[in-house]
Amino acid sequence: MELKLSKITPSENEGNKVEKMIIIGAGPAGLSAALYAARAELAPLILTGMSLGGQASLTHMIENYPGFPDGIGGAELGELFQKQAERFGARFEFDTVTEVDFSVLPYTVKTYSSEYKTETVIISTGANPNYLGVPGEQYLTGKGVSYCGTCDGWFFKDKDIVVVGGGDSALQEGLFLTRFAKSVTIIHRRDELRAGKILQTRAYNNSKISFIWDSVVEKINGHSGVESVTLINLKTDEKTILPTDGVFIFIGHTPNTEMFKGQLEMDENGYLIVDDKMQTKVPGVYAAGEVMDSNFKQVVTSAGWGASAAIQATKYLEEKNS
Ligand code: NAP
Repeated sequence: MELKLSKITPSENEGNKVEKMIIIGAGPAGLSAALYAARAELAPLILTGMSLGGQASLTHMIENYPGFPDGIGGAELGELFQKQAERFGARFEFDTVTEVDFSVLPYTVKTYSSEYKTETVIISTGANPNYLGVPGEQYLTGKGVSYCGTCDGWFFKDKDIVVVGGGDSALQEGLFLTRFAKSVTIIHRRDELRAGKILQTRAYNNSKISFIWDSVVEKINGHSGVESVTLINLKTDEKTILPTDGVFIFIGHTPNTEMFKGQLEMDENGYLIVDDKMQTKVPGVYAAGEVMDSNFKQVVTSAGWGASAAIQATKYLEEKNS
């Protein structure tokens, strides 16, 4: 999505200026937090990182965000979120956070090009797609291996492709890819899909989609592009080579929490732990969206977490400064 950025001149950021709120990440959680904080007149600064609009912006059509009965494109929804937040004074900076220090107030947030001090932080850094970790995957990424149907589907017009995974993402993206591809073969490690019933029905009824069950990709083969995948059937141990032009991988996500290690509590999978008020163990530091949510992972729930975190951070500032 195209993010329109309000320019922060160096002089504004010089000296001892302390921000009321910095929001790290501009997916549905960060953008909703920005709207609520802006309406509380906190003039939040959103450090967008590289992923504008978050993973949702890569989704061709979002059909389950309330208020859009005909669905809405992910990038378009992100732009609307941004526009609404800016209307009330949210400021966006296209910069990536590299380091934080939550040990002393005001907290420090460092980016590639600046250093900020802030009273509160909302972390909404989201999650990244998981890799299979098999030979050929890394080398062939961008040469037929992809993690985003909306981004790369067009390159596979009239081609045969495989999709790996059995969750909502695999089926939703697999269905989208049938617009371009001649055939979509979904490879799932079990014989039962994890995806919701509506997507399952659509996939079963789509003549371009077929399934290979109980199987995993052992290797992705090719030189200048993907040529085939080597599969293993987990029930029979049988190995087969399936010719294909592309491999789309949708096998879950890992939260972007690396830079908070040692400062904030996380669960065994790296998701930030927050209390029922969205606060981490550090006062004034909140987390919202897929960075703390390993369960729901919906645009609407992320937006809700973001709004909740901003409301709570506003209360925290009011109490602290009263
Ligand atoms: P997910 O629900 O965690 O599904 C991941 C899939 O990948 C599972 O089928 C899993 O198999 C498989 N898998 C995991 N590791 C694998 C490996 N190493 N090799 C082969 N297969 C592997 O992830 P997701 O589909 O990205 O969805 C994430 C969340 O977003 C979910 O809560 C989902 O409901 C939500 N979402 C919703 C929508 C929607 O509402 N339309 C769309 C996209 C995502 P097993 O089933 O055997 O574990």
